[in-house]
Amino acid sequence: MRLVALETLRPRFQKNLCVVILHADNGLVGLGDAFFQSAAVESYLHEHVAPLILGLEDPSPEAVSAQLAPYVGFQGGGVEVRGNGAVDVALWDLLGRQTGQTVARLLGGPSRDEISVYNTCAGPDYIQESSAQRSSNWGDAVGQWEDLTAFMERPGELAKDLYAEGLRGMKVWPFDHAAEASAGTRIRPDELAKALRVVSDIRDAVGMDMDVMVELHGLWSRRAAVEICHALEPYRPFWVEDPIRPDAIDSLQSLSNEVGVPIATGETATGRRGFLPLMQSGAISYATVDVQWTGGLTEARKVANLADTFAIPIAPHDCTGPITLAACFHLSMAQPNALFQETVRSFLRTWYPRIATGLPRISDGVATLSSEPGLGLTINEDLRDPSVAHRRVSRIDSA
Ligand SMILES: [Mg+2]
Repeated sequence: MRLVALETLRPRFQKNLCVVILHADNGLVGLGDAFFQSAAVESYLHEHVAPLILGLEDPSPEAVSAQLAPYVGFQGGGVEVRGNGAVDVALWDLLGRQTGQTVARLLGGPSRDEISVYNTCAGPDYIQESSAQRSSNWGDAVGQWEDLTAFMERPGELAKDLYAEGLRGMKVWPFDHAAEASAGTRIRPDELAKALRVVSDIRDAVGMDMDVMVELHGLWSRRAAVEICHALEPYRPFWVEDPIRPDAIDSLQSLSNEVGVPIATGETATGRRGFLPLMQSGAISYATVDVQWTGGLTEARKVANLADTFAIPIAPHDCTGPITLAACFHLSMAQPNALFQETVRSFLRTWYPRIATGLPRISDGVATLSSEPGLGLTINEDLRDPSVAHRRVSRIDSA
């Protein structure tokens, strides 16, 4: 089996996404996607990666991963890492289709038949316009499945709605406006009280039967983050996520020693070298690895095993595309230390199916995989319509 073409599709309805399709000479394809700065990723893939991988015979994810490792740009989730991550996921998908096995099986699993999911309370248009982690990139805030507006304005009602669906975990970020107001340097008492009301209303509505993850998006200075974590302690959040930037490891370590809430981090950490000091510091209780941003499944499974070595569960990140989400599910099905999977119901019910079909079935807050080979996905042919997505293809000369 020889790689003969690399195709990218950038949907006009989700500017941050770059879908990657690897074509083999036997007609099989492998799917991946990269999230944020999609045009830059597209350029990188066609100008740098395609000449390196097109023509390869029976490409293995490990060999290609080693070949694509950049000389610079490997210490963070930059364009090279995100592009390589998408190609790596596509190679695993291709390998699965070639062998007739699911990716979970190729990864040494499955170690389970199903995995619980929690809902990240974003709306359909969340992070659609830019790669900024700011409220200006939160979307229209109107319409169906607008869970972000709901958690800000009707948190108890939203919690009951999610509970009725069978979900037992939800993530909210009611402190972000206050972080923007002070560049994360301080939180005023009225801002703290307003944000805490979101969490207390959820507790009043569904009690302790709902895991509540509080997301701080790494927007805070250490002292302000400590104050927020202390204030959250009575509400027993399942975790507080990214209270400060995860590369401030010494500060994160002292914060975790000071507060009585579990800390989750990792979606922006890159590879084993990104995670190792976090785990050695003892600062984190849960590793929220992003399969694509960390460099692909090849690296993510090593991160997952590193986490297992430190007795840390993984809870893979979503919000970075449906193909990455499918890869997360296969990793979680294979990994004994997978706790649960992040999902966004508003994405799963709006734009994710416009990219691909065959995503895992979720019922009563639990996901199950199909036995279809590879990732089990089928790309939506509508994406090749120029009015729907920008398409670019690189082929080897003889293809
Ligand atoms: Mg997060």
